[in-house]
Amino acid sequence: MGTIVLESELTCPRCGHAKRMLMPTGACQFFYECENCHAVLRPNPGDCCVFCSFGSVKCPPQQQQTMNAPPGA
Ligand SMILES: [Zn+2]
Repeated sequence: MGTIVLESELTCPRCGHAKRMLMPTGACQFFYECENCHAVLRPNPGDCCVFCSFGSVKCPPQQQQTMNAPPGA
């Protein structure tokens, strides 16, 4: 079993402002407001949450899925 990383650095695509965020384990965060330029970020198509789209680390459910997936799948 690998370790799930709970901290992700979200980078605003508009102003480039980065902030370290603690991800909720039970739910995906769909919206995120940049504290610098106040742009409201939404996930890219196909991504489940803002951490998957703009974070340095994907969200916990995605990390778990990657871990459980057989190699090559
Ligand atoms: Zn911003």
